[in-house]
Amino acid sequence: MLLNTVLLSLIVFLRYLCFAGGLYFLCYVWKKPKWESKRISPIVPDKKVMKHEFKYSVFSSVIFGWTGAWMFDAWEKGQTLVYTDFSKYGFWYAVFSLLVMMVIHDTYFYWTHRLLHLPWFYKNLHKVHHSAPNPSPWAAFCFHPVEAFLESLYMPIIAFTIPCHIGVVFFFLMLMTVLGVVNHLGYELYPQVFLKNRFLKTIISATNHSVHHRFNKFNYALYFTWWDDLVGTRYQSDETILGKTVGVATDSELHDLAGFASVPEDGDPLQA
Ligand SMILES: [Zn+2]
Ligand SMILES: [Zn+2]
Repeated sequence: MLLNTVLLSLIVFLRYLCFAGGLYFLCYVWKKPKWESKRISPIVPDKKVMKHEFKYSVFSSVIFGWTGAWMFDAWEKGQTLVYTDFSKYGFWYAVFSLLVMMVIHDTYFYWTHRLLHLPWFYKNLHKVHHSAPNPSPWAAFCFHPVEAFLESLYMPIIAFTIPCHIGVVFFFLMLMTVLGVVNHLGYELYPQVFLKNRFLKTIISATNHSVHHRFNKFNYALYFTWWDDLVGTRYQSDETILGKTVGVATDSELHDLAGFASVPEDGDPLQA
């Protein structure tokens, strides 16, 4: 179990490093002058913020690796529903199971995220993730270790409840990492059709999640806007200004918010 934890932590961390590092290089170095118009906020995340995000992402990788090792152990003992014979359920079931996995994870994430915005949980745990109103791609795994453990539990929930092919599980984990990075990128790379098409506009974008970081409320979901729409926690104007500066704060106000010390500490105002 210890060796598997070390190996899987390393794999999780390298996966994070590849996607966060790759997209950071693409947006913040290589295409920086060309893609100015794609920046959601004109304020580039502080180096101090990025260091903080990276440090906590290393801890999270170890915790995700530990949960992975636990799942691997359970799989070897035949306790999970993860299967290896692709022909057992076929291609369309694999596609369907991927969607089901995303819906389960989205639902779990939405409600645990709401819990984490209650004042005590926010102050003691979730504040680590909200280190700045304009996060960087390095924030994808930036969680307090307790939050990282709580968030990692979606995997056993899935592995013990729905049959899923091992290849689909790996693809899902890859997708989760890519989307986690994309949602914290600070750049809106999705084309405008993502706001016009009635299906595509339910997919969470970097702009959608940047609203959550800027206001410490609204837009709690991970992959789709369904739960925010249903519960009434979706910020209503974000889709009309995709790719542009979001919300009511002016750029100079955002500058004031950019330091660690002045990050708002309020919990979930919807609970007030
Ligand atoms: Zn949050
Ligand atoms: Zn976030």
